[in-house]
Amino acid sequence: MTILLSTLNARYAHASLGLRYLLANMGELKGETRLQEFVIGAKTTEIVERILAHAPRIVGFGIYIWNVEETTRVVAMLKRVAPHITVVLGGPEVSYETGEQEIVKLADYVVTGWGEVTFPQLCRAILHGPQPLMKVHAGVQPPMADIALPYAEYSDADLAHRTLYVEASRGCPFKCEFCLSSLDKTAWPFPLDAFLAELESLYQRGARLFKFVDRTFNLNVKTSMRIMQFFLDKIDAAPHDPVYAHFELVPDHLPDALKEQIAKFPPGALQFEIGIQSFNPEVQANVSRRQDNAKAAANIRWLASQSHAHLHVDLIAGLPGEDIDSFARGFDQLWALGPHEIQFGILKRLRGTPIIRHTENFGMVYDPYPPYTILATDRITFTDMQRLVRFARYWDLVANSGRFTHTLPVLLAAAPFAQFMAFSDWLYAHTDATHRIALDRLAKLVEQYLREARALPAEEARALVASDIAGKHREPHDSAAAPIRQARHLAA
Ligand code: SF4
Repeated sequence: MTILLSTLNARYAHASLGLRYLLANMGELKGETRLQEFVIGAKTTEIVERILAHAPRIVGFGIYIWNVEETTRVVAMLKRVAPHITVVLGGPEVSYETGEQEIVKLADYVVTGWGEVTFPQLCRAILHGPQPLMKVHAGVQPPMADIALPYAEYSDADLAHRTLYVEASRGCPFKCEFCLSSLDKTAWPFPLDAFLAELESLYQRGARLFKFVDRTFNLNVKTSMRIMQFFLDKIDAAPHDPVYAHFELVPDHLPDALKEQIAKFPPGALQFEIGIQSFNPEVQANVSRRQDNAKAAANIRWLASQSHAHLHVDLIAGLPGEDIDSFARGFDQLWALGPHEIQFGILKRLRGTPIIRHTENFGMVYDPYPPYTILATDRITFTDMQRLVRFARYWDLVANSGRFTHTLPVLLAAAPFAQFMAFSDWLYAHTDATHRIALDRLAKLVEQYLREARALPAEEARALVASDIAGKHREPHDSAAAPIRQARHLAA
C-alpha cells in the first residue's frame, strides 16, 4: 500500500468526511490508497505503530483545531522512526498562518484549502517525479461537478455506528469575522440531482441519520425544499422506520414555503442548529455579522412553537464590544424564545479569521495554544471569562442535557442568565470541579442549592429534582456531542 490518509477525530462517532473526499478523488491512485482514522486521546506510539503497519510511502494527515497538538506529536515520532515516509498535511488548521506552525516544520508538504485536486497531484509528483519544489501547495478549487462525491466511501460499519456527514454546498456568503467560512465570500452548491442520488443510495444501504455540514442550509430555498422533500418522502413511505436530519440555518431567512415544509416533519426527525452568536447590534457590526434580529427572533419563536424540530441555538461569549451585561440580555432574550438548547460557546481565534483586526482596539487576549480560546477582553476580565467558561459547562450538564426539565424553570426564574450564573458560582465553590460530577451528585447539589440559596422548602426541592431524576426527562439526540460551533464548521 502506497498512500495512507489519516486523521484524529474528536470522537469515534465522527467519521471524517474530508478524508473520504480525498479517497474518492485519488483517480488511478485510489487502488493503492487506504484510510485509517484515530480518535484523540489515543497513545502516540500506538498511532505510529498502526500507521507503520500499513507500510505507506506517503501519509496524508487531516489537521483540525482539535487534533493539531496530538498530530504534531504523531508526525514528530513518525519522522524519527520512519524518516523515509513522506508526510503531507492538509485541513483548515494548516491552511492559514502556515509558516508559523511546528507541525508544518516537521512535515514534508502542506496542501492549503481544497485538497481534492491538489493532494492526488502532489502524490503523483512524489511517487513518479519530478519532485515538487515547493513545500506549501495552494489547493486548486475545481468546478463542483468535477469533484467525486465521497459517500460510497462510508463503510457499512460507518453507516451502522457513526454520524454520517453530508454536504449539499460548500462555503458561505456571509462575513462573520470569527468564522473561517467568512473567507469563502460565497457558497458553491454541488449538483443537486447527483447529491440526492447519493443520499438515496445511503438510505438504501440503511443510513437513517444525516448531518448536513452546509454552513447555511436555507440559503437557496428551492434547494433546501428539494432536500427536505427527500426526507419527507422517506418518512411518508416508511413512518415506522424514521430518518433524522440535522441542518444549520441562518435564522432570519425562513420563507413561508420552507416553514410549511418544516411543519410537516414529525417529532424526532429534524434538528436545526441556528447561529445567533450575539443579539447586540453593535457587536454584530464589529464582527460584520448581518442579522435581522427581529426576524431571527420571530423565526426561532415560530420554530419552537409551530414545528417539531429540535432547536440548538448558538451564542458566543467574548466577542469584541460585548460585556457581561449585554451578553446576559441576549441570553435572556434567546431563552424566552423557547429553543431546546442554547449552545453557549466561548470565542476562539481560528487561524486565518479576520477577527484578529480587533485584537488591539478591544484588548482581546487569546490563549496561544489550541483551541485559541479568548481569555480576556477590554470588557470581560480573565476571572469573569473563567466564570463564563464554567457557566457554559454547567449549562450543558444541567440545561442542555435535558435532565432537569422540571427544575430548570425554577432555577432560572425571571432572570435566567443572572440566576444561572449565581448557581454556577455556587456550584463551583462547592465542588471545585467542572467535570466528573456524576448525575446523582449533581442532582443532590441542585437540590441543596434550591434549599440554601433560593429558600425553597426542603420537601419541595426534593420532589422537584426527584421528578426529573425519576426518568421523565428529555434525551437530546446528540447530547454527548456539543462541539464548538466554530469548530464544527471545520468538521468536513
Ligand atoms: S458564522 Fe455562519 S453565517 Fe457567519 S460566516 Fe460563518 S458560516 Fe457563514
